[in-house]
Amino acid sequence: METKGTRIGVVVRVRPLLSKELKANSLNNRIDINLAEKSITILSDQKQQKRFEFDEVFDEKTTQEHLYQKLKLDNLIKKVIEGYNATIFAYGPTGSGKTYTMEGYEHDKSMKPIIRDDGRLGLIPRIVKNLFDEIKKAPSHIEYTVYCTYVQIYKENIYDLLNPAQIKPPGLRLRWNQQEEFYVENLFMHPCYSANEVISHYNSGLKNRIISSHNANTSSSRSHSLLSLNIEAMDSETGSILTSKLQLVDLAGSEKVSQTGNEGAALKESIEINKALFTLRQVISTLASMRDGEASFVPYRDSKLTSLLKQSIGGNSYCLMIACIAPLDSFFEDNLSTLTYATKAL
Ligand code: ADP
Ligand code: MG
Repeated sequence: METKGTRIGVVVRVRPLLSKELKANSLNNRIDINLAEKSITILSDQKQQKRFEFDEVFDEKTTQEHLYQKLKLDNLIKKVIEGYNATIFAYGPTGSGKTYTMEGYEHDKSMKPIIRDDGRLGLIPRIVKNLFDEIKKAPSHIEYTVYCTYVQIYKENIYDLLNPAQIKPPGLRLRWNQQEEFYVENLFMHPCYSANEVISHYNSGLKNRIISSHNANTSSSRSHSLLSLNIEAMDSETGSILTSKLQLVDLAGSEKVSQTGNEGAALKESIEINKALFTLRQVISTLASMRDGEASFVPYRDSKLTSLLKQSIGGNSYCLMIACIAPLDSFFEDNLSTLTYATKAL
């Protein structure tokens, strides 16, 4: 029997040291990964240990392809096509590998992706490609349309990355429809019939992400970005329409910004980011405790991020969190708090 409620998976990925970090001799002596036990142990200065366990742990050698396979995302795509909703998000401090994991492109200065090596492609391009491959296998009386949207949330403002006119404050309004679902007013929704169409919208969104960061005078790592694939399957024999939603989220960096010397706009920014990430954790842990189907209050409304994730995270959805950490001494505190966050979300 299928269990009711959200199915939640939490995994951790440890990125490798980059060549410049290797040169700088930033030793990795504080993270001990045990693949068999799916655990990570962090060592403190005082030689104290803290051990965490997850659904899966990925070490520095994990390729993008291996990650995709091991997470069984082909199965998830099949579920989405069957009508289930799903959310995948990357959590972790800036520089820990979230964008690499979700997206994997290198970019030139204008944010045009440079694809030297398909092996580097992250989850988003792989999921989009496989989603359309799967759609092609469907019986001919079912016609699929994938509507894509791409938004950025910065300081509780919502910007439409697919609409250049809407990437400046105050952004778009969040509304509540008759089916009691949140939606973003005037958001561009592009119907797509191929993986290339989705990817080309995504790429234009990436450019707008940079412009929007300029407008708001911040780094794009301080905002959340949500690529949403809304799948509509119309059955021409029965006239029925089945819809489902897959959201792919690159969260704002979770680093603790020290409050000393951090005033005004920067302080407000970190408070807002922390609040959204805190609410996300509340939402996930409430959903996790509801797995037997009993009702409970879920605080979706407490942030724009969780409001927009409601449909694809609550109910009968699949939710996968990829917590990212980096094996650098300077990441010690942030790694510890990332692993603690990820454990509490379980
Ligand atoms: P974040 O999005 O969390 O700020 P990035 O994805 O930008 O972090 O990663 C920081 C740097 O590390 C980038 O230069 C990225 O290319 C590199 N990187 C991250 N993860 C990996 C990985 N698994 N393998 C190789 N390089 C990686
Ligand atoms: Mg990033």
